[in-house]
Parts: sequence; C-alpha cells; structure tokens
Amino acid sequence: RNPEPGLRLIAETRARAATRNAGVLVIMDKQDRRTLVDAMDMGAHDVMVHGFDVDETVSRISTLVKQKKFADNLRADLKSGLQAAVTDELTGLFNRRYATMHAKKLVEQAHRKGRQIAVMLADLDHFKSVNDQYGHAVGDIVLVGATRRIRENLRGVDLVARMGGEEFLIVLPETSVERAEDTAARLCTLLRDTPIALEDQVSKVPITMSIGIAMAGRGLPDMSVDELLDQADKALYEAKARGRDQVCISGLLPDLVNT
Ligand code: GH3
Ligand code: MG
Ligand code: MG
Repeated sequence: RNPEPGLRLIAETRARAATRNAGVLVIMDKQDRRTLVDAMDMGAHDVMVHGFDVDETVSRISTLVKQKKFADNLRADLKSGLQAAVTDELTGLFNRRYATMHAKKLVEQAHRKGRQIAVMLADLDHFKSVNDQYGHAVGDIVLVGATRRIRENLRGVDLVARMGGEEFLIVLPETSVERAEDTAARLCTLLRDTPIALEDQVSKVPITMSIGIAMAGRGLPDMSVDELLDQADKALYEAKARGRDQVCISGLLPDLVNT
C-alpha cells in the first residue's frame, strides 16, 4: 500500500506545536525497508514491522508513554531551571547576573540607535530598621510590594532587576536625562505616598527609596556598563548622604546632556 499519507501524518504531528512531543508508533503491514527508514527519519519513535497485534501494540504504546512522561519531566525541569537561572525567587525580578548582561545589550543598542539611555540604582531607605521593627517576613513583603510598585509604573521595555538585598537596577532605554529624573522622582513619590499594606489590610509599612542615575548614549561619553553602574552607585550614595528619599544624577555628566 502507499505509505505516503502515513508518512505525511507523522511529519504533521511533529510539525504542530500541540503534538510535537507526542510519541509516534508506526505499524507496517509488510516489511519495507525504505518506508521504515523514512518513518524513523520523520520522527517515529517505534515501528512494528510485522503488522498489527493487540498485545504487541499495547506493550509498545505503554513503553512510549513512559518515555514521553520522562521526556516531559526533563523538559519541565529544564524550563524551570532556566527560569531560576535568570530570576530572583522572592520578587520574580531578573537577577543581577542576567540584568548586567541585558543592560549591556541595551546600552549598546542605545549607541547604535543614537538614543540616550538611563541606568539607575534604587535602594530602599533604612530597610534594616523595617526588618528590626517588623521582622524579616514583613521585610520580605515590603520588598515584594515595592517591586510591584516599581514594575507597574514603568514601561514594558524598561528593565527592572534585583541587584541583591533591597537594591534594584532600573534601565530606561530611549530616555533623556529630564525624563529619567522625572521618572525616578515619580517612583520615589509613589513609594513615599503609599505605604505597603500588610496581609491584614490594616497595618501599613511606610517606606522610601533613594535613586542614583547615570546616563549614556547620544552626546555622552562612551562608558561600559560597569562604569555606568559605578556612576549610578556614586549618585545613589550622594542621594543617601543628602538625606535619602531623593534622586541624584551622576556628577560626571557633561553639559551637553541637554543638547
Ligand atoms: P540605607 O538607607 O543606607 O540603604 O539603609 P539600609 O538599612 O536600607 O541599608 P543596609 O545595607 O544597612 O541594610 C540592608 C538590609 O536589608 C539588611 C538586610 O538584612 C536587609 N535585607 C537584604 N535582603 C533582604 C531580604 O531578602 N529580605 C529582608 N527581609 N531583608 C533583606
Ligand atoms: Mg537600603
Ligand atoms: Mg542596600
């Protein structure tokens, strides 16, 4: 008989997303080496070459199902492993390693496109005293709440990551220095004005944040991401020194920023 429709069915099964990982058992009613090889090439997992037999079919399918379950588990583990490798467990934000890698790409892209980009470090103020006063578990809730506020008030293209502890990296592509300052000030106001509500919906924990900004891109000196992070860190230190709950922009910025 013509093996073509059967072979096409295998190819289609493998091509569609929904059936891509299905186990495929081919039953041939006559020995035909060519078709056997074609079937395996197209992705059949097992071939019965002596025609249909109930017991044999049941046994082969049950083996295929076991293999498929095993492969599915491997795939799921891999997926969650990859996810875990780039994200921070508590906040769900990108972790430091991923963020610095991605920030590098965004800065390169800004140079290529001739746009400006803001690299900011934000740090919660006196967070140690939140832990001391309310306990570490509440500290965690405040961290998650602050994360949500930051994330919800930025664009999809903006990168938000947890650099560690209560420090965040925020990268705003296609952003002038004025826009960056406005955005940072808005984030500070947002945190200051709405304390983080705890689960009982009654207690609220007030929190503020300081932000240091460094700028790169059009009209600005060529700097590596490490240098930008260093500048943002110094600006953050300055914001802390000036009394916290405020934004500072890197002092190394030349006047041509506004051109
Ligand atoms: P500053 O205004 O100068 O930033 O003061 P600070 O208290 O925020 O800074 P400091 O670096 O002294 O303390 C940071 C605290 O953050 C200490 C640490 O216990 C706490 N912390 C870091 N990571 C976590 C976390 O995942 N959960 C909780 N609950 N606390 C954390
Ligand atoms: Mg802090
Ligand atoms: Mg800190």
